[in-house]
Amino acid sequence: MLKIDHINTFYGNIHALRDVSIEVAEGEIITLIGANGAGKTTTLMSISGIAPPRNGEIVFEGKPIHHLPPHEIVELGISQVPEGRHIFPYLSVSENLDMGSFLRKDTAGIRKDLEYVYELFPILAERRNQAGGTLSGGEQQMLAISRSIMARPRLLLLDEPSLGLAPIVVKKIFEIIAKINEENRTTIFLVEQNANLALKVAHRGYVMENGIISMTDSAANLLANDDVQKAYLGI
Ligand code: ATP
Repeated sequence: MLKIDHINTFYGNIHALRDVSIEVAEGEIITLIGANGAGKTTTLMSISGIAPPRNGEIVFEGKPIHHLPPHEIVELGISQVPEGRHIFPYLSVSENLDMGSFLRKDTAGIRKDLEYVYELFPILAERRNQAGGTLSGGEQQMLAISRSIMARPRLLLLDEPSLGLAPIVVKKIFEIIAKINEENRTTIFLVEQNANLALKVAHRGYVMENGIISMTDSAANLLANDDVQKAYLGI
């Protein structure tokens, strides 16, 4: 579905991604793990067109996308839930969700997906008229994920969904990630510092160090790998 082929991404003189290649098959959950500053967010930003690579290729469903502006990449079916959530604080929960379906015209489908996200996260249904900015951190993460689901993406990019959340909320969010993947067949590209959780939910994983992909394998093999256990799982 997605092929990132030897990309190099820079911020001015900073060479953030070095010859990065990643493949994602339709229906998979893949995770990209790594330490602070490794280049995980930059990888997502390169896919979504916010930090386009200087060279190399990104191909989505057979179409090169590395030269497209972000709004065209969204239109192709790629939706990103950024780190730190970035919901619209002064809009209500339901208005935030409307923003997710902004590009869609299928009213019946939108209504169905709205029912679906309220079923996934009943707390959002209870709070549908509350301003987004007054929700708890965990509720805002649920809203950010739900807003992306409302765009009906074929590929969902999730940046650190566990960041700053209580363990019980993180558990719920990860259950929902697995559910979205199974029920909607939404392909998921998950960036996480919590390698343990990420590798438990993902099918395959990539490890990134200083802008380079240093390892890739099935999630089960990475979980059992000595180097991964020492560096990322605290074992
Ligand atoms: P974290 O887990 O801490 O979010 P990350 O793996 O997502 O880290 P990135 O945010 O992709 O890492 O950062 C990769 C490198 O690029 C870092 O050295 C960072 O300082 C640098 N960087 C990121 N954004 C910018 C920017 N807008 N301008 C300059 N340098 C940047």
